[in-house]
Amino acid sequence: MPDTIIRGAQLIDGSGAPPQHADIAVERDRITAIGDLSGQTAAREIDARGLTAAPGFIDTHAHSDGILLHEPQHAGGLLQGVTTEIITQDGLSYAPLSAQNLASYGRYLAGLLGPPPTDLDMSSIAAMREHYHGKGCNVAVLAPHGPIRLSSVGFRDVPLVGDDLAAAQRLIAESLEQGALGFSTGLSYYPNSYSNTEELVALNETVAAHGGVYVVHVRNHNNDRAPGGTGITEALEIGRRTGVPVHVSHYRTHPTNAGQVAALMEEIDAAKGDGVDVTLETYPYAAPATVPGYFLAGEFHDGGIDALLARLADAELRPRLLESMRTLFPGALQDSAWTWINHPRLRQLEGMAMADAAAQQGLTVEEHVLEVMLESGLACGFRYQSPASVTVTRQIEADVMALLRRPDYTVGSDGIPFTDGMPHPRAYGTFPRVLGRLRRRHPTIPLEHLIRGMTALPAERFHITDRGRLDEGKFADIVLFNPNTITDTASYEDPKAEPAGITHVLVNGQLAVEHAQVTATLAGRAVP
Ligand SMILES: [Zn+2]
Repeated sequence: MPDTIIRGAQLIDGSGAPPQHADIAVERDRITAIGDLSGQTAAREIDARGLTAAPGFIDTHAHSDGILLHEPQHAGGLLQGVTTEIITQDGLSYAPLSAQNLASYGRYLAGLLGPPPTDLDMSSIAAMREHYHGKGCNVAVLAPHGPIRLSSVGFRDVPLVGDDLAAAQRLIAESLEQGALGFSTGLSYYPNSYSNTEELVALNETVAAHGGVYVVHVRNHNNDRAPGGTGITEALEIGRRTGVPVHVSHYRTHPTNAGQVAALMEEIDAAKGDGVDVTLETYPYAAPATVPGYFLAGEFHDGGIDALLARLADAELRPRLLESMRTLFPGALQDSAWTWINHPRLRQLEGMAMADAAAQQGLTVEEHVLEVMLESGLACGFRYQSPASVTVTRQIEADVMALLRRPDYTVGSDGIPFTDGMPHPRAYGTFPRVLGRLRRRHPTIPLEHLIRGMTALPAERFHITDRGRLDEGKFADIVLFNPNTITDTASYEDPKAEPAGITHVLVNGQLAVEHAQVTATLAGRAVP
């Protein structure tokens, strides 16, 4: 007898096929039957008339590495219908690192991942994956560039060559053999951006040989190290030279090129025409979020967190630091707000525009941001404001939907969830925002196509075994939602507000969300 039967749902199987009406039987952690199951009974019956059943969503870009260790339930993802998260993004994570490197690099990453883990073995991907069993959702990892470069050559702006390169390649090979799905980098972050294209080609030869995916936040630091000075050209060049499948992180239009989707994709489509294997992803908001170290050139990061903090405290260096803050991405700080600051006195600035906080203190915004970085020991994050013009915001959202209409786009929240503060709402609203609010504005995109980009496409791309499809024999990761009412409610003002219209979420056959409330179940696994 099945443990659970879901009755009367409109079933969207993940493949992109049109919906059909069917019942779903679940036994232990698998789907055992799909069809008319009116002759069967189960211990638990879920009446899903009026609801859509889809495979649980796969978030291809999540920064939950830290919060999952502190809050294993991780309700913010589950309530959106997310049953699998791919963490270790942008090459920024905790493994593989020695205890000593974890202590320093964990602090360096605090503005993104929260307080670092202590007393956890993160010396290998195998060790890391052990810490992600028994969470609310399934968790998949990549081999992150930062720890790998740090482990081989240290936190230094030197070429990764010779024995150091061989050591890094061995670490990548080992990580992929231990279950990493690919290799991630973020070439705005350190030590990742100390690389050049030749290094990335060499590392991705190993990734390709092990069947992994190259996941890249394209370069916008040290652009002179990229062919043509352009990050996307570099990413495509790596795919061309190594044959590695390339997955481009959070790639969409911005206020400066809003409405120009065709131009944005031109170079990518040309490369695909030449045989380069490319997929991409986006989140459905006009405002990014990151850490303020993003505004400091590579020379200031050299040596890692303690060297960086010493430079921030050095009065003689101050003019050059301020110059970097002003010129690397001009004007961006003026349009940004603090999301999280792990410091008792500065916490009150969370949610404030940096420009307002600076004015209160009689500082320029650059001076203010350097002070907060120094005092919080880099444990601070921020987001950009949404564009002042709603027309621009709407255009970027329309562009996101135009991208998701393509066959090669997944959805990645790029969520940076924190237990407190005022995080970017994308960690709490991404999936229902696409399926509800934005789909209703763009009703010609079929629901089943959007679901495919959240389920079967990422599962196939990242070789996540037996997930991403509603099919007999697959794992029972299932989300039930009302297609007419599903929507996000999280906003910049109320970032953790729970979505509407998502009633039930099963993870490995267990109810993780019931009647839109999280249960106490921790059924997630480190996958695949
Ligand atoms: Zn990211």
